[in-house]
Amino acid sequence: MADCLFCRIIRGEIPSKKVYEDDRVYAFEDINPQAPTHFLIIPKEHISGLDEATASHAEIIGYLNLAAAKLAEQRNLKNGYRTVLNVGPDAGQSVFHIHLHLLGGRHMAWPPG
Ligand code: AMP
Ligand code: ZN
Repeated sequence: MADCLFCRIIRGEIPSKKVYEDDRVYAFEDINPQAPTHFLIIPKEHISGLDEATASHAEIIGYLNLAAAKLAEQRNLKNGYRTVLNVGPDAGQSVFHIHLHLLGGRHMAWPPG
């Protein structure tokens, strides 16, 4: 998508701090980190959000989660971590290219804010 912020990051038109990339996903540091480790993992295919996903996206959505687990292991988040997928206005979704947050390196409360 021409004007999508995260599509532009994948294309290298907007700088980002890459932490992982393969043929299906791109992962980078969140610009406004909410934890010592805060990465965003996004599919290279544009999907606006979980609410727009279909059965054809099942594999890539699963793959985002496996990429998060791999990154958490690489970053030694042995004490645990949290993955978050914000969907729609109540959850505060601000970028409409599906992205999985990976947060770690501190204790996290439940329920979330
Ligand atoms: P969400 O609120 O779930 O839609 O998350 C969007 C996330 O994207 C926020 O945590 C922002 O800090 C992050 N973000 C926005 N612009 C950039 C950018 N240019 N580089 C890295 N992270 C960004
Ligand atoms: Zn996009």
